[in-house]
Amino acid sequence: MFENDHILRVTALDGMIRAFFITDRDTVEYARKAHNTSPVVTAALGRLMTGALMMGADMKGEEDTVTLRVEGDGPIKGMTVVADSRGNVKGFPMEPLVIIPANDKGKLDVGGAVGKGTLSVIKDMGMKEPYTGQVPLISGEIAEDLTYYFAASEQIPSSVALGVLMNKENTVRRAGGFMIQLMPGADEDVLSRLEERLASMKSVTACLDEGMGPEDIMRLLLSDMEPEINDRLPVRFKCSCSREKMENAIISIGRKDLKSLIDEGEPIEAVCHFCGTRYRFDMPELRQLWLRAQER
Ligand SMILES: [Zn+2]
Repeated sequence: MFENDHILRVTALDGMIRAFFITDRDTVEYARKAHNTSPVVTAALGRLMTGALMMGADMKGEEDTVTLRVEGDGPIKGMTVVADSRGNVKGFPMEPLVIIPANDKGKLDVGGAVGKGTLSVIKDMGMKEPYTGQVPLISGEIAEDLTYYFAASEQIPSSVALGVLMNKENTVRRAGGFMIQLMPGADEDVLSRLEERLASMKSVTACLDEGMGPEDIMRLLLSDMEPEINDRLPVRFKCSCSREKMENAIISIGRKDLKSLIDEGEPIEAVCHFCGTRYRFDMPELRQLWLRAQER
């Protein structure tokens, strides 16, 4: 799994353009299975994860992470996704089983499922305070919202395109996209060339539908702008949860609350939000955890 999922980090026009091209079908399919999501939620979560992976790939430090949180008044209610600089991503929707009619283009209505609300971006770069930016959702379609975030919050002219296509039986057929950014000092001419190219290009969904990969889409978009592939970063869905971390979380509720759990006499099952992994703790284990817990 994940063999083909990767991001190309690209520069063009002597570094005036920085771009990321991604394919991540297996990653999005993994999330679909982990959370048992309906198609519109698979598309929404998949787009957010795909965007987060590219933003993570743009970070420098080994331990740097970016968290994208969408909160909306639509039936999904919200989604949280975390990606790091090494190509790992995890994420979950608040409501995995949303079913709503297609939009007026006959496509999965991601914007309708997300609704109006906010997009928060939290970049943790190992400093005391993480960088946080928040913008209102423009359409809830995710790519537009990220493009707006870059313009409004980071003052970086960008174009983000994201696509998730489903098979008839609701598994993920293709997922991917790109993120193009203009570096400071790029002149008006570069901007207008890029805008022209973007306007004349078919949608990223159509490209993915034709089986185009990151390199094909890169050529389509940047062919006459001397694109240079700097590297190829493999990506995957990967959660950082573990039984040990779950034990620590249970211990942290304190002796009193643990005692009442034990008094109920039933084993407990703790579920990781991000990946859906279930950790079961039986009575003897709960007593062990009680011994390790503090009075509070
Ligand atoms: Zn997990």
